[in-house]
Amino acid sequence: MSRVLVFLFLGFSCFELAAQSRPNIILFLVDDLGWMDTSVPFGDSSGLRFSTPNLQRLAQTGTRFRQAYATPVCTPTRISLMTGMNAAQHGTTNWTSPQRDTPSDAPDNQFAPANWRYNGLSPLPGVPASVYATPLPQLLLDAGYYTIHVGKAHWGPMGTPGASPYNLGFMVNISGHSAGHPQSFLGMENFGNLPGKATAQAVPDLEEYYGTDIFLTEAHTLEALKALQTPIARRQPFFLHLSHYAVHVPFDADSRFVQKFLDAGMDPAEARYAALIEGMDKSLGDLMDFLTEKGIADETIILFLSDNGGLSLSPPRKAPAYSHNLPLRAGKGSLYEGGIRIPMVVRWPGVTRPGTSSDYCLIAEDFFPTLLEMARLRKVQTVQTVTGISFVPALKNPQLLNPERVLLWHYPNKWINTDGPAINYHSALRRGDWKLIRNLRNGQNMLYNLRQDPGEQAECAARFPEITRELANLLDSKLASWKAPMPVPK
Ligand code: CA
Repeated sequence: MSRVLVFLFLGFSCFELAAQSRPNIILFLVDDLGWMDTSVPFGDSSGLRFSTPNLQRLAQTGTRFRQAYATPVCTPTRISLMTGMNAAQHGTTNWTSPQRDTPSDAPDNQFAPANWRYNGLSPLPGVPASVYATPLPQLLLDAGYYTIHVGKAHWGPMGTPGASPYNLGFMVNISGHSAGHPQSFLGMENFGNLPGKATAQAVPDLEEYYGTDIFLTEAHTLEALKALQTPIARRQPFFLHLSHYAVHVPFDADSRFVQKFLDAGMDPAEARYAALIEGMDKSLGDLMDFLTEKGIADETIILFLSDNGGLSLSPPRKAPAYSHNLPLRAGKGSLYEGGIRIPMVVRWPGVTRPGTSSDYCLIAEDFFPTLLEMARLRKVQTVQTVTGISFVPALKNPQLLNPERVLLWHYPNKWINTDGPAINYHSALRRGDWKLIRNLRNGQNMLYNLRQDPGEQAECAARFPEITRELANLLDSKLASWKAPMPVPK
């Protein structure tokens, strides 16, 4: 009897010690924030129009990544973050519709919807058209983390297990469900929970804020800080996935900030967009102040990122379309850099060096192994094959480069009704300075040198046929090995 007790006591103690030595991790995920939408320069500082003083604060104490990538739209990135799989590998290559068994692709004359996994991420086997995987928060929960999701989820349609963050290993879920955007950002409109509401987009929870003059970003920040009280009181490490609905449409006016942009003569839609950005930045600042006040800033890693490039359609953005991420070409939905390159900053106290920048190439699926390494989880079992690569070495050494890294994007879907620049039915691959983009409608390969031509204006496949062929073969073999969904000719 006493031996059993000793064993249990020691086991419990070891668990407690291990749990306490793990850092807190905050993934601060912004929706649709473009590479040029902050006052932190990820390229040179010319052309920056928006102000994010709190992101500047974070960047001054951490590393900003200038060559960080996501997929061109929401859900594929979000599933890559949770699974460590490339979108071509997990197969949810497009955003998931609120209704299950319903591909979200726009109608097309040439193609029927690709055979993609339109039911999104599933923590359980057997859900048709889904990707069965072991989600990141489940692994962190199993290791002793207190796991919190706040804001936009968008991992799967209503009626599938992946729609609920609770099924993915989160202990707390505030407002996460199948929707990709809120019906309203306004407390005065009950965040969309009014008669005639769109069930799919009305924001769940937050009833205590109904009828008050509060913006959704602020309500989620207050709720996130409240949720953090429990693990802080318990001295338990936490994982906070603070996933703002901002700065996605609808561009509702945040009354705290919008007037000053209008007074400055900004176009009304751009003023509302600027206010969405400022509210998101205030949230980051409030969170950092809270960590300092609680005395845990030095034990807490913050990773700031966006889930795709900035929206550059007009409307809702001010005309002309595809100008908002310049010098990067195009925007959300595109495989040009404007659609996939994201703002990203990481502060890991004691590891990242203050005020540094990195040109290490990385992509959404790399966060999965990185966060596991941060949490000191070296051996975990997953049902999926993780193809992301930890970028911890680049956090330790901001000079580190990885020109051999192959990055791949695959979007065999129709995002919007009218084709735009590398929008609808494209794949792409980057290795070093070279990037190949393939139009899946006609098989045409385009080649760009990103070092000499970051704006992707000088297509050069005919000048460099061998490089084009090599990258095209690499793209073909990767897509084949992952059995990636492809457009289906009608
Ligand atoms: Ca998005």
